[in-house]
Amino acid sequence: MGLASYYRASAAAAPTHPLLSGTREAAVCIVGAGFAGLNTALGLAERGQRDVVLLEADTVAHGASGRNGGFVFGGFSRGEDALLAELGPVAARRLYQGTQDAVDLIRTRIARHQIDCQATDAGVLWANWFRDPAPLRARQALLAEHFGTSWDWVSREQLAEQVTTRRYSEALFERNALHFNPLDYAHGLARVAGGLGVALHEGSPAIALDRAGQGWRVRTPQGEVLAKQVVLACGGYLAGLRREVDAGVLPIATYVMVTEPLGARLDEVIRTRAAIYDTRFAFDYYRPLPDSRILWGGRISVLDRSPEAVKRLLLRDLLKVYPQLEGIGIDFAWSGLMSYARHQMPQVGRVDEGLWLAQAFGGHGVAPTTFAGEVLAAAIAEDDPRWREFGRYGLVSALKPAGFLGAQLSYWWYQARDAWKDRREGRAA
Ligand SMILES: Cc1cc2nc3c(=O)[nH]c(=O)nc-3n(C[C@H](O)[C@H](O)[C@H](O)COP(=O)(O)OP(=O)(O)OC[C@H]3O[C@@H](n4cnc5c(N)ncnc54)[C@H](O)[C@@H]3O)c2cc1C
Repeated sequence: MGLASYYRASAAAAPTHPLLSGTREAAVCIVGAGFAGLNTALGLAERGQRDVVLLEADTVAHGASGRNGGFVFGGFSRGEDALLAELGPVAARRLYQGTQDAVDLIRTRIARHQIDCQATDAGVLWANWFRDPAPLRARQALLAEHFGTSWDWVSREQLAEQVTTRRYSEALFERNALHFNPLDYAHGLARVAGGLGVALHEGSPAIALDRAGQGWRVRTPQGEVLAKQVVLACGGYLAGLRREVDAGVLPIATYVMVTEPLGARLDEVIRTRAAIYDTRFAFDYYRPLPDSRILWGGRISVLDRSPEAVKRLLLRDLLKVYPQLEGIGIDFAWSGLMSYARHQMPQVGRVDEGLWLAQAFGGHGVAPTTFAGEVLAAAIAEDDPRWREFGRYGLVSALKPAGFLGAQLSYWWYQARDAWKDRREGRAA
């Protein structure tokens, strides 16, 4: 089996959507059919605004949305402690709650529209890589006190019953979380939005964006959309339409691999059906798949590596945690681009009259893109002002190309700090 995306290889034949050709008028044109664009389109259609064109340069969820780890949980890339310090308790809690509501909305959409995406509603474990339990206690208390969220304490003994590794101490368990096949879910969203009247065009990159009367003209190689409102939702796969929009994010790569089916060996190492990540800055994230494989992700880099290189790196990481799996085969490995703003929060809102933006969801985007889709759909269809809650986290320059160097250096710095903590605790990094 060639190394490629497990999600692509296992997807049911996805419906194709025609190229845009000729001139088309619409109330709203959305650029980018990742989760940000799809959720905005569906949110608009659900609010009665069905005159929507969704343009995708490649195929639905070609970017991060169709390649990610499949963790669906609350919060943002920016930590809750930073949100609290920057926004104060009321505004921080409202934003955080938006992502929790999004997790519920994802569950509801899967059930209501019978989206077959291997959803496993078994929560997420945040496992302590280090011996000191204080950071877990502190986060648990902060979430309970300021965010109305309770994460359960999982003792070392309880964790040992769920995973056979000496790497972790205790863990926190986030119950309101699930994991799923994100590409199948994206195809489901596209089907539902299409059924409500959204016109989706694949292979239709937006190549120019200009003012046209009261609205905008979005050109593609074979056509154009004249729309009153435009939403840019291109993530790390920069659209190249507005300089300040592309300049606001750094595309950063992260990697995923999928093992061969492990059969009974899976239960020898992972007995929980929860998804798992750990407390390091450069954490591993992984989950058991229904066909007894392990999907394993990790690392971030400014480099987009080859599948062979991804496999080598991630297999080494997996064997550090589960050395008893030495010798297993890896069937798939791939990478994807996340988009990060300097402030590590999504950029959601209006950037010009009738021009909207949803990008910079970083490595924590499934629920936040769902939240952003709701916020933007409500803004456009109902003039709802909630998008202003993201106002503090605007379009600041990501300082490219120095920003790439800065991002890589700070990653290495945090990685080195984690390795140093490991050595201090008497373990090999
Ligand atoms: C490997 C990996 C693992 C991750 N794991 C998780 C996880 O487990 N949980 C989680 O919550 N988050 C995770 N994330 C983050 C999450 O996937 C992203 O934050 C989220 O999918 C971003 O969605 P998006 O719609 O903004 O961008 P994308 O999904 O990247 O979509 C952007 C789309 O825009 C299209 N596009 C670009 N330019 C144009 C143009 N000019 N015209 C038309 N279309 C255009 C692209 O082709 C692409 O399809 C992960 C990300 C990666 C890469």
